[in-house]
Amino acid sequence: MTPTNPNAWSGIIRRYAEFLPVSEKTPIVSLCEGNTPLIPAPNFVRIIGGNFRLFLKYEGLNPTASFKDRGMSLAISKACEKDARIVICASTGNTSASAAAYAARARLQCAVLLPHGNIAMGKLSQAMAHNALIIGIEGNFDDALRLVRELGNTAKLEIVNSINPVRIEGQKTAAFEICDQLGQAPDFHFLPVGNAGNITAYWRGFEEYHERKLTDRRPKMCGYQAAGAAPIVDGHPIENPETIATAIRIGNPASWQSAVAAAEASEGWIEKVTDEAIENAYRLIAHSEGVFAEPACAAPLAGLIRCHEAGRIPEASTVTLTLTGHGLKDCDFALQHSESSIVPVKPNAADLLKALGL
Ligand SMILES: *Cc1c(COP(=O)(O)O)cnc(C)c1O
Repeated sequence: MTPTNPNAWSGIIRRYAEFLPVSEKTPIVSLCEGNTPLIPAPNFVRIIGGNFRLFLKYEGLNPTASFKDRGMSLAISKACEKDARIVICASTGNTSASAAAYAARARLQCAVLLPHGNIAMGKLSQAMAHNALIIGIEGNFDDALRLVRELGNTAKLEIVNSINPVRIEGQKTAAFEICDQLGQAPDFHFLPVGNAGNITAYWRGFEEYHERKLTDRRPKMCGYQAAGAAPIVDGHPIENPETIATAIRIGNPASWQSAVAAAEASEGWIEKVTDEAIENAYRLIAHSEGVFAEPACAAPLAGLIRCHEAGRIPEASTVTLTLTGHGLKDCDFALQHSESSIVPVKPNAADLLKALGL
């Protein structure tokens, strides 16, 4: 059932079906994901002293508040087409939130493997709300993904991590939307890199639009890892990745090769930023633009600040940057790293005016 107005948004599969591996027989499982805003960020650019145009692709406004919903809509649709009974994933949090929601909608069982004690509460609460089977692995994300790989796909069990190629296919629709919204492709696209599926997906999206002559250029892909979890930049897997940006706390990315290929083919780069730089950028975007994003999203923002300072962003460039998940996902982090606090005031106008500095 879709809304009667054919122009109403009804999810990425219906909008971009011609680019996706679906047929008439594919049952579409959608929560109307996608169609997220591309928000101009002029204050941020002014504060860092830039002279370029920056647009934020705010993926925190997807149904489960991260970009994972794009790939998950397609992955769960294909699992239903194959008559799978259970879907399973390893997750730093957002994949599990998304898988749990889409599985609930499709009436499938869902099992999620989470690194024990290292998941943001917002994300965990989502998997719980949608009644997933939640398995706490005594290890990190890489251990959880290794376990999922060992099980493998069977007739009844479908893996919905980004090692499932349809996840990448669904996620490339964000690049289509950016081109549709801008009316062209940007000069640079910045995003965080964890398991490296998303940078792979965006590059594929930008390439496909270019091949079909829907755009006349392709952006440089600029990916950012956290310094304590930067296997691609450091050139080897990291056994114990550590960063405040838990969504990219990954030591052995599944899409490593394709991420490097995307950076090279686009003449872009994959670099790392410190947790301190991530924290500063996290605050700056929320203070200056009213946009609340989770810590991982601040990695490319920190990267952009550094690139600007090094003179790597030519004047009048168009830069797009993916804010991959909503700030409310990780409330604890927001509360712990904020400079504000609650000012206690007695319930009378005089005291209130004093508190207001008036
Ligand atoms: C999953 C995720 C990432 C990392 O994306 P990859 O495709 O694994 O590189 C970054 N930020 C957020 C908020 C995520 O949920």
